[in-house]
Amino acid sequence: MSVELVRSLIRDVPDFPSPGILFKDITPLLADPKGFASAVDLMSEQIRPYDPHGLIAIESRGFIFCAALATSMGLPMHLIRKPGKLPHSKAGLDYDLEYGSDRLEIHLDAVKPGGRYAVVDDVLATGGTAAAAASLVEQQQGEVSCCAFLMELSFLDGRSKLVNRPAESLVIY
Ligand code: AMP
Repeated sequence: MSVELVRSLIRDVPDFPSPGILFKDITPLLADPKGFASAVDLMSEQIRPYDPHGLIAIESRGFIFCAALATSMGLPMHLIRKPGKLPHSKAGLDYDLEYGSDRLEIHLDAVKPGGRYAVVDDVLATGGTAAAAASLVEQQQGEVSCCAFLMELSFLDGRSKLVNRPAESLVIY
């Protein structure tokens, strides 16, 4: 179980999905059972000290890691999705992107008031997505005990957008 194994299984894909973006491709990690299991074990070690009541998964690659974490940690998992995907009564939050805006939604019965939650995604980049997800949990009277990421693009300083919510990342670039 090692961070270096996990790091070696994340592939850089230049100019995807648009020129100038260095895409961090997790498919080699998912295709390696030992590497994927290491990633999940190491992420769970980072999350456990925060003692959350539940995990909040951000669509879509966050679902992959969060589902594995939820089963291995024995914690409830709740979904935050893009607009129009959740079937039941929901709350939403609009947030600004570099160009334009976006929206995230969560079921009204996901967050228990006063409950503590860890927000999970694959990449912390500019932090806009995770900050919006955390605000959505807080809007539902939940507490964000931490935000946990497989990797962090630290040069984009996404942590500053998370303000006072603690952030844990396994692989830091
Ligand atoms: P951000 O809101 O800028 O922190 O972006 C986070 C979301 O965008 C995550 O859900 C990631 O899946 C995705 N993302 C952002 N940058 C990258 C990247 N360089 N490689 C892969 N995914 C990325």
